[in-house]
Amino acid sequence: MLSIKNLHASVEDKEILRGIDLEVKPGEVHAIMGPNGSGKSTLSSVIAGKEEYEVTEGEIFLQGEDIGELEADERAHKGIFMSFQYPVEIPGVTVTNFLKTAINETRKARGQEEMPAKDMLKMIREKSELLEIDRKFLSRSLNEGFSGGEKKRNEIFQMAMLEPKLAILDETDSGLDIDALRIVANGVNKLRSKDNAVVVITHYQRLLEYIVPDFVHVLYNGKIVKSGTKELALELEEKGYDWIKEEVGV
Ligand code: ADP
Ligand code: MG
Ligand code: MG
Repeated sequence: MLSIKNLHASVEDKEILRGIDLEVKPGEVHAIMGPNGSGKSTLSSVIAGKEEYEVTEGEIFLQGEDIGELEADERAHKGIFMSFQYPVEIPGVTVTNFLKTAINETRKARGQEEMPAKDMLKMIREKSELLEIDRKFLSRSLNEGFSGGEKKRNEIFQMAMLEPKLAILDETDSGLDIDALRIVANGVNKLRSKDNAVVVITHYQRLLEYIVPDFVHVLYNGKIVKSGTKELALELEEKGYDWIKEEVGV
């Protein structure tokens, strides 16, 4: 699904990613952990194609296709979903209407016709039921006055509707409360399938109690310095990151 080879990236001429290799197969969930400033958010932004980062070396493939030269919106149309991609408040545009537009724009970019209104309604009904989203929520203005949990709910609903091939969830360092964590985790778990893959980026182990990853990678100083299974996340929670620095000699 995602294949990253020897990825180097810089921002303002400062090298942040210093040779990343990562293979994510369909159906898998990978967690990327690491101390603050190690480059986790940079990695997710570079995969999603944000402009401010310059890839200086290496390649990124999505389903075998080299996407390194594509713009962020083109990558989104090919099935990459990144959380926080639509954090804006849009007064007067409802959650539902925003999504209808997003879906039809994606279809247009793929050369498909608009989704018939009847099918759209059916999809909205099915996905909102699956994620236990209240109907009233769907007619609220996008992000306007949303609580942390509601923002997460909206994000997960977007993800469910857009049916991405690869979802990258950067939970950043701003502590999500336990409700928001559960919303994200339940959504991801319900949407997991053999046809998609998820990369969860997190500073903390506790999200991984709810979303159980197949693999855990530790990013430190722009490199993946250790990979393992979910036990590695527990070990990190217990021992912190210092032992890794000693072990890998960075
Ligand atoms: P993490 O998500 O692991 O905390 P980041 O990817 O946010 O790490 O940051 C890694 C390093 O890159 C930090 O030193 C940070 O200051 C720098 N950095 C990231 N994005 C930018 C940017 N847009 N402009 C300048 N420096 C940046
Ligand atoms: Mg940070
Ligand atoms: Mg970050």
